[in-house]
Amino acid sequence: MIVKKYKNLQLCFKRQLVEKMTRITIHHYPNEYGGFLLGCYADDFTRLYIKDFLLVDKYTSSSVEFRRELNLKIHNFENIFQETGLYYIGEWHSHPNASAWYSLTDLQAMNDIVSCDTVQLYNPVLLILSISSNKLLDFNFFIFDNGRLVVYE
Ligand SMILES: [Zn+2]
Repeated sequence: MIVKKYKNLQLCFKRQLVEKMTRITIHHYPNEYGGFLLGCYADDFTRLYIKDFLLVDKYTSSSVEFRRELNLKIHNFENIFQETGLYYIGEWHSHPNASAWYSLTDLQAMNDIVSCDTVQLYNPVLLILSISSNKLLDFNFFIFDNGRLVVYE
């Protein structure tokens, strides 16, 4: 289990999960690809476990952009929670041949999620995978906090 930190918050995930996402994004290379992150909290919400992910099927994508269908109702997160105990906790996508840093579009997308009234999510997580045509180059988890994206160290 890998643990990253931001203030008093911990983010925990398995390396295999990131590797699985990487393999999927390489299939979509040189276009960006991604989806949703699923996880659960522990210790009074100070520890977040990223447990699984979902792919999106409605999206527009190029080598510099990944924009999913904004309507989150297409996924029934309430059913997912009842069946698996996992919450929708954020978003992930690849940056082919680019850095694992968020773009302005990415920041705006996170802003939209927080202001979306069908989703009760105030500190969504964003995972960006920097990939080449055949491997993972780098990745960063960010947390959206007070209008900013801050990297988990
Ligand atoms: Zn991006």
